[in-house]
Amino acid sequence: MNTSNEIYHEIVEVKKDLIDQSFRDSVATIDKKGKRNFLFPKKPKGKLYRWRTIASLVYLAIFFTLPFVKYKGQPLFLFNVIGRKFILFGQIFWPQDFFIFAIGLLTFMVFIILFTVVFGRVFCGWACPQTIFMEMVFRKIEFWLDGDAQKQRQLKAMPWNAYKVRKRATKMAVFYLVSFVIANFFLSYLIGMSEVEKMITEGISANYRTFITLIGFSTVFFFVYYWFREQACIVVCPYGRLQGVLLDKKSMVVAYDFVRGEPRGKLKKATINTDQGDCIDCLACVRVCPTGIDIRNGTQLECVNCTACIDACDAIMDSINKPQGLIRVDSEENIEHERKNKFNWRLGAYSAILLLLIAFLGYLLVSRKDVDATVLRAPGQIFQVQPDGRISNLFSIKLANKTRKSIPITLKLENVKGEINIIGSNLTVGAESYFQSPFFVKMDKSQVAQRKTKLMIGVYEGDKKLETAVATFIGPAD
Ligand code: SF4
Ligand code: SF4
Repeated sequence: MNTSNEIYHEIVEVKKDLIDQSFRDSVATIDKKGKRNFLFPKKPKGKLYRWRTIASLVYLAIFFTLPFVKYKGQPLFLFNVIGRKFILFGQIFWPQDFFIFAIGLLTFMVFIILFTVVFGRVFCGWACPQTIFMEMVFRKIEFWLDGDAQKQRQLKAMPWNAYKVRKRATKMAVFYLVSFVIANFFLSYLIGMSEVEKMITEGISANYRTFITLIGFSTVFFFVYYWFREQACIVVCPYGRLQGVLLDKKSMVVAYDFVRGEPRGKLKKATINTDQGDCIDCLACVRVCPTGIDIRNGTQLECVNCTACIDACDAIMDSINKPQGLIRVDSEENIEHERKNKFNWRLGAYSAILLLLIAFLGYLLVSRKDVDATVLRAPGQIFQVQPDGRISNLFSIKLANKTRKSIPITLKLENVKGEINIIGSNLTVGAESYFQSPFFVKMDKSQVAQRKTKLMIGVYEGDKKLETAVATFIGPAD
């Protein structure tokens, strides 16, 4: 390491030391008495906020439109946990397909981890439903009803009078109404829009269970967006709590360039202080923060990467003729060493794992069967000797039809000679349903040379083979 590098690193260390670490002893949303410190973030504005608004409008349009979209008479997406019915992109998934869900979930988690390692919590600020609804729906309504941060503070501080009661009642009513609308759509993802519409047309008394669920969801949403707010991200969200292990100095996060900004100080027009950094300590970045933190203290658990502080600081930099980007999306390491982000081994490894998982998931989805068949021997039965001398075993077949049409099934023995006798009229599995039927397999004694014979039973729809079920035929010991 040469001397100029050593000096540079000493300067960086000195600038790091300039940052007061006392913020680590407290949480911005809890006051000294341990009570909730309600935040009144200033209305953000700027280039990134405009992009975030556009992205949010797209998400909201998708959220409110999807429940109406149907594919072959079924919703495009359905997550009916109680009815154990799941539809993804119009494809019905059954409890038998649970492993595909598990792989899908694993892929999603690895994707989130990979994304977080590289781009930090940008998901939280730009795509998380909690942030979208809080910042782009309820916060905007709040600004519209109660005004910007200063007016909201004044309203909170004023004694209760008719004006304050009217303001609070209006806000509560509007928040509950919006929560109710969101709850209707949320419920439609669980039980289908047709069920929600049925409740609306048939009335509450005929669908009181659905209505109670709806009121429950509405009340939870109202509580979260009216009162709980940023606490959902700070205290409850497990993804937020994981940031400490996912992020490191190479992760891209919303970060303050302390090398450029420190030592901070108020802007003095009369003198040009060459020792002073670019941060003029105006606190504009702190005032817009929806989680109440000062990003100049470094990456913190509360930061949801909403980028509001970037817009605020860029506007300040413009006004004092300094370059934008004192707060920007960058890694701590890049800021310390004044360099651009580059590909690293960790990004490569996570990307490779993600690609493998996506390929595997794709294979599972493509190779997913329309009909699942399970053949089991009837419990407590061994074998029977028929009057014609043949040996028979009683089996039971369970069929799950995942398609939207009835399927007539025929069974064929694939690897041995013998006969299959269905007990009952025929094997037709109704659309999207299960069917179970007992049947006999009868084989000539000459075919049953061993005590156990492996049977391959072909499950056919006409000439089309749907699956091969495996079973064991039990014969006499000699
Ligand atoms: S520090 Fe900046 S990016 Fe992080 S939550 Fe606050 S305003 Fe958003
Ligand atoms: S907005 Fe920029 S200049 Fe103002 S306090 Fe924050 S970092 Fe410093």
